Amino acid sequence: AEKLIIQSEKLKAIGEIAAGVAHEVRNPLTVISGFVQMMNNDKNSPYAFYTNLIESEIDRINLIIGEFLVLSKPHAMQPKEFKIDKVITDILTLYRPELQLRNISLTENWHANDLTVKGDVNQIKQVFINIIKNAVEAIEKEGDIIITIDKTSNHFFTICVTDNGSGMKKEVVENIFKPFYTTKETGTGLGMMITEKIILEHEGQITINSEYGKGSSITIKLPYIKA
Ligand code: ADP
Ligand code: MG
Repeated sequence: AEKLIIQSEKLKAIGEIAAGVAHEVRNPLTVISGFVQMMNNDKNSPYAFYTNLIESEIDRINLIIGEFLVLSKPHAMQPKEFKIDKVITDILTLYRPELQLRNISLTENWHANDLTVKGDVNQIKQVFINIIKNAVEAIEKEGDIIITIDKTSNHFFTICVTDNGSGMKKEVVENIFKPFYTTKETGTGLGMMITEKIILEHEGQITINSEYGKGSSITIKLPYIKA
């Protein structure tokens, strides 16, 4: 338990630093980005090759710092009560067009309703965005995503996101929470690291079950305060 506390304190510190740096880096980056775009608009520029490259690298930096922005600035987290049902429903609404376009069927198994959670709603939203995004990316052509919500005790509930996509090799499961660990060409390798950090900060747990070639199941266990 002590080890877990130390780990969660460490993650908290890393997150706060990362979020702070992300905020600070974003402003100068916006200025640089503006000037590079201006240079790119000059059709006769002899530097077009380089400025285009600079612009796409800036996009990449923005993608990476964007991952950190959801983390609270130091001491800014104000826990509030919210309904987890609405969070999940909102995110599924967001993803439905993409799922349809990609021939991915979505099944919702609600075995618990009207659960009130206390925490940072934007961070919890980010958790499910990250997990569903990975599930979508793991499905190559068509497939199924199943979301199951269960009450497991008087204090905890679980949300399980299952996909029948690529699945993960043992090595991937072992490294999944490490920063910048990715198997994707344009991945950041930050999604699951941030997801774990947010869940631990909300006094929850995250479990990965995966079979290479078959699919994966990500289970989030969180405390609720009212049902
Ligand atoms: P990214 O998605 O940018 O690669 P993540 O931290 O979200 O970074 O995920 C890390 C790695 O974990 C991914 O590159 C992928 O190999 C693996 N992974 C995560 N979720 C799944 C999933 N549902 N199915 C298969 N692999 C997954
Ligand atoms: Mg991801």
